[in-house]
Amino acid sequence: MHKQFDQLQASHLYCDKCRRSMPVRQRLLLILPDGELYDYLCQGCGNSVGSKSDRGPAGPFAKGVLRRPL
Ligand SMILES: [Zn+2]
Repeated sequence: MHKQFDQLQASHLYCDKCRRSMPVRQRLLLILPDGELYDYLCQGCGNSVGSKSDRGPAGPFAKGVLRRPL
């Protein structure tokens, strides 16, 4: 067992289909000019259980520096 905490955000969310709190998978949905929009999918049934917008650092030089690892 690791004692370190992973940097998982909102690792469990309530799922309507499973009717209980389920582990979720974070999926990048959209890249906005001022942040990123994430979708949370239930790992049990794949249902979308939530979304979150993540704002990047605001500033005049923040635009155009997003890179997508492929
Ligand atoms: Zn579910």
